[in-house]
Amino acid sequence: MGKSMPAAGQTTADIIRDLETYYEPENLYLRTVGLVLDAADLLDVPHEVKLILSQPKNEIMVHCPVRMDDGRWELFKGYRVQHNNVLGPYKGGMRYHKEVKLDEVKTLALLMTMKCALASIPYGGAKGALKVDPRELSEGELMRVTRRLTAALGGNIGPDYDIPAPDVGTDARVMAWMADTYINFAECSSKVTARAVVTGKPLEFGGSHGRDKATGQGLVYVLEEMLPGMGMEFAGLGFSLIGYGNVGSWTGRLLQQKGCRMHAVLDHTGAIANPDGIDAGQLAAHVAAHGGVVGYPDARAISEEEFYATEVDLFIPAALEQMVNLEHAKRMRCKVVVEAANAPTTPRAEQYLLDHGVEVLPAILCNVGGVTVSYFEWKQNRLSETWDAAVVDERLKTVMCRAARRVLETAAHLKCNLRLASFAAAIQHINQVYAMRGVFP
Ligand code: GLU
Repeated sequence: MGKSMPAAGQTTADIIRDLETYYEPENLYLRTVGLVLDAADLLDVPHEVKLILSQPKNEIMVHCPVRMDDGRWELFKGYRVQHNNVLGPYKGGMRYHKEVKLDEVKTLALLMTMKCALASIPYGGAKGALKVDPRELSEGELMRVTRRLTAALGGNIGPDYDIPAPDVGTDARVMAWMADTYINFAECSSKVTARAVVTGKPLEFGGSHGRDKATGQGLVYVLEEMLPGMGMEFAGLGFSLIGYGNVGSWTGRLLQQKGCRMHAVLDHTGAIANPDGIDAGQLAAHVAAHGGVVGYPDARAISEEEFYATEVDLFIPAALEQMVNLEHAKRMRCKVVVEAANAPTTPRAEQYLLDHGVEVLPAILCNVGGVTVSYFEWKQNRLSETWDAAVVDERLKTVMCRAARRVLETAAHLKCNLRLASFAAAIQHINQVYAMRGVFP
């Protein structure tokens, strides 16, 4: 193979920029911790529990050298942040994204702790990431970097310790490589249960029925529980979506099955609209073939401004964090924001929406379906069982409806908005367990 040579994105300046030694004072992590502490203050949570929740337990950073197809070497930065494990093993996705930063991973790990506690599933919270655009890699490169990352994480992951899953930019194929690498490295007493080191695997290799659609399906169950209280029903509701990846496209298809109509979609390629409705299944096929929503024949291309101003009942952000800001909120004409992505709404946007009578259904409730079916997959792996799709759906529905009711009851009890209520319900559960276990030593 040829020796290393600098190429695009590989100059000294690029390497320095990627070191990320700067600090942003107004960052999402600080704001999310602020929210957790506000919610804890609504309850009688002791200082030490607030202190513990304000920082992750472990922040792991690794650098993975990988030879690319053209012979160049590239160094990929990987993260695994383990926020809390008082309720059970660390749990959360692995994100592959070019712009990912440590503070983002810390935020997402904290949100995983909150989600699992809210849904009463026996996991703590974690999140991992690899700083890469997976669309720029060949399949072989993607596999090599995934294996190298998994090996670098080594004993920091494991079926009883920390269990990764898919997130933005990763899928069942990536999970299969992670599990296979782990199995080849780990001194496993049983290689069958070692598969439970990651969830979201392909069905043939220990995956669960319903994991692919789980986040979208869970969101639909939350709406089923919550819409009547808001005087609404599925039939005839119009919705718009930001993001048409796994979560967005499943949400679109499942809502369409419920009789709702998709009016507009925005993704990284642009925005489209059709007042008569965009077929969610056909759009999913278009995105799979072309990489984005732009160019879909049965809709009109619109600007981002027009997208936000499109009148809908449900506005569903299903892409990255903090995409809905105050300027967007001022344009939006919707009744309910349903947060499918993690932390998609900025605090100022949320306040504006609430002040203007728009309900905001919080992400830690709406998108907890993904990790819930991950839990079912992990359980099936450990029991060497395969549950039917209908069984998975029914059990997911039970968890989602229970979590939704907990949020509504907590909001009524504490007289607070649904976001604070969702955090308070989660923290209450964690706090109870700390009260029983105590803080080591
Ligand atoms: N990445 C998903 C999330 O943010 C799923 C995590 C999991 O299944 O562990 O909730």
